Order: sequence, then structure tokens, then C-alpha cells
Amino acid sequence: MAMMHYKYLIVGGGMTADAAVQGIREVDATGTIGLIGAEAEVPYDRPPLSKGLWKGKPLESILRTTEQQKIDLHLGRRVTSVDAHARQVADDLGNVHTFDKLLLATGGRPRRLPFGDEEIIYFRTLADYRRLRDLAETSNRFAVIGGGFIGSEIAAALALNGKDVTMIFPETGIGARVYPQDLSAFLNEYYRGRGVRILAGQSVRGMEVRGRQVVLTTADKTEIVVDGVIAGIGIEPDVELARLAQLEIDNGIVADEFLRTSAPDIFAAGDVARFYNPALDKQIRVEHEDNANMMGKQAGRNMAGANEPYHHLPYFYSDLFDLGYEAVGELDSNLETVADWQELFKKGVVYYLQGGHVQGVLLWNVWDRVDAARQLIASQGPFRQADLMGRLPG
Ligand code: NAP
Repeated sequence: MAMMHYKYLIVGGGMTADAAVQGIREVDATGTIGLIGAEAEVPYDRPPLSKGLWKGKPLESILRTTEQQKIDLHLGRRVTSVDAHARQVADDLGNVHTFDKLLLATGGRPRRLPFGDEEIIYFRTLADYRRLRDLAETSNRFAVIGGGFIGSEIAAALALNGKDVTMIFPETGIGARVYPQDLSAFLNEYYRGRGVRILAGQSVRGMEVRGRQVVLTTADKTEIVVDGVIAGIGIEPDVELARLAQLEIDNGIVADEFLRTSAPDIFAAGDVARFYNPALDKQIRVEHEDNANMMGKQAGRNMAGANEPYHHLPYFYSDLFDLGYEAVGELDSNLETVADWQELFKKGVVYYLQGGHVQGVLLWNVWDRVDAARQLIASQGPFRQADLMGRLPG
């Protein structure tokens, strides 16, 4: 059992944690930093796990350089308790670490299906990537459960690598929660054209292992026989430690604009943290890379005393075969949408509106318009359809 004191202690080993280390070091070159991460890996870029690594990007290129920042990395360790008053945490080996400032960057845990257990790859980590890559070396048939970000990206990645892929999801179309209905319907056909079998509006009800094969059964009794099953059915913010520390929780750990939680000297950032965004004038929680990087860095700077508000409106992006996009703000297909296509479903901009205010912008194969889209979201409006046509030319 070891006992260490750190000026800055970070729980979590993801992109947010790495960004926080960089943020701390921008302000404080020498203060001691400890990082405790459950994964055995050094922090790495997560997006390439379902994108670039399947298109020849080398694995080494995704590893971050956190360890170069005069830091103690405690990897493969899980924090099991936090005492906000005593300012200390304990890990699963009984090691106790005390801190002056603590950051909770615990991210999210994949939602799981009530069957399948270890047979299903809940695709999230580098270890999951390695497992799937190994399986893809020897196997051909894959089922992908879920039509969200993971499902759509990993299905495309596997198909690009010559695999026989079946996607199964409850919505009517790929990304139906995000993209307008007609674009989502187009994606179903686009994926079918790339050889992916799409079972939309279907739920998997059960799973059985037969030898080296896995047989999935859907609600309408369709059987799908595959060699491997991947699921991306969303994540839940990992608030367990925040609960133990009795922090305020409301769909994630509640953070103020300086990224402080309800306890003194404890900060939160990344997928797990809920915060106020002025441009949207609402509380949000964002599960994307840009937020991890920017919010993590700001949390680190503020832990070291910078005292700057976090007002960044994060963007995100995706690659779906030859299609790609960047997007900013709130992309909820339940909002009113205005589409400005230069080429139908191939290139154009979709605006998401609420009461004449632009809440989100989808830049579909349109590049270098993220800042302009942010400005539009930050401006008062009101906007009508005619005001938006041609507004962000591709
Ligand atoms: P996600 O994008 O939230 O999508 C989850 C999907 O699974 C939804 O379509 C959901 O449908 C569906 N689903 C929920 N319960 C299901 C069930 N029992 N059976 C079948 N489908 C079910 O989450 P994700 O794809 O798992 O991704 C995980 C996280 O990684 C997210 O936070 C995501 O933002 C992030 N990520 C981001 C990117 C990117 O920015 N490009 C890429 C990869 C991952 P309903 O909506 O109907 O519930």
C-alpha cells in the first residue's frame, strides 16, 4: 500500500484527463500531478478506434504524450472511494492518495443488453479495438447492434475491410436521433449500397452461442448467424465516485462555469460533466472529443488557479464511408430542421431551430465552417428558412 500526496489528482485516463494535464502545465510547471486510470493504456485519442485505425492509421499515432509532463501515471487502477472532506481517494489495491485539487474525468460506461454478456463487444476502448481487430483477422460475419455513432462508424469500418455486416437498431434509420428523417433514410440505402444489411426498426431479443458462431434473434424472430457481435447502445455518465463524494448530480456531475463541482476543490470535465453553455442558453452534457479536449484543458487551467469560464461550444464529426461531416451545437432531429443542399444528401448544411434560434448546424461534406456556425448559434436571430439558405456556403 502506497500513500502519496499530489497537488493535482486526476481520476480518469482518457482524453479529458490528458487535456487537463496539459492545462495544468500551462499554468503550473512544477506542481505534482497524479493520474489514476482504469485502463492499462496511456491516454489515447478515442475517435480513430472506429475510424482511422480501420483505414491504415498506425496505432502508435493515437497515443498521447501525457507521461512527458512530469506526472505519476497509475494505470490499470480503479478508484473505489473518495472522501471530499479528507481530500483523499483510495484505489482497488488500497493505495490512498491525498490531493489539493481533484478532477473527476470518469467519462461514461457503455449501456449493456440483458443478454450476451462477454460475447458482446461494447466498443469503447483500445482493448475493445484490439479484440475486434483480432476477431476480424479470422472471421467474416459481424452483427452491429445500435444505429448511433458507434454503430454507424464501426459498421462502415468493418464493411470497408471486406466484412459481412448486419446492423440492427430500433429506430427507422441510421442516426435517426441526430439526422433529419430524409437524410437518415438515405443513409439506410447508402449503407445497403455498400453491402451492409440494415435491419431497421428491429430489436435483438436474445443471443445464443453455438460452437464458434453466435445466433441473434430479433423481436420478429429473424435469426442472424455471425462470428462476432458489437454493440453501441449509448453510455451512462460514470457518476459513481461523485455519488460517493456526495456531489450534486443531475444527468452527470453538475459543474459551474469554472468547472467546479458542488464540493470545494473538486472539478469535473468531459463526458461525465454537465455544464451551462451561454450560446445555447442551457445545461448540456457532451460526449465528443472536442469537448473532452477543451473542457479538460480548461479544468486543468482552473485547478491551477487560472479562474477562466468555460464557454466553448463543442463541435463533433464523423466518417461514414465516403461521407463525412462536422457539426456544432444541439443536433436533435426532433427540432425543426432547415436543409440547404447543394447536392441532395451529399453536400449541404442542415440547421436545427427552436423558436427561430439556431441550436445546431450540421455541415455535411462542408468544411471550414465550424466557427461561422458557432457565430450563428450565438446570435439572437430570429431566423426564418429564407434567412438561412446560402448562409454557410460549402
Ligand atoms: P449513441 O450515439 O448514443 O447511440 C446509441 C444508439 O443505440 C441509439 O441509436 C439508440 O437508440 C440505440 N439503442 C439504445 N438502446 C438500444 C437497445 N437496447 N438495442 C439496440 N439499440 C439501442 O451511442 P454509441 O453509438 O453507443 O456511442 C457511445 C458514445 O461514444 C456516445 O457518447 C457517442 O457520442 C460517442 N461517440 C462519438 C463519436 C463521434 O463523435 N463521431 C463516435 C463514436 C462514439 P435510441 O436513440 O432509440 O435509444
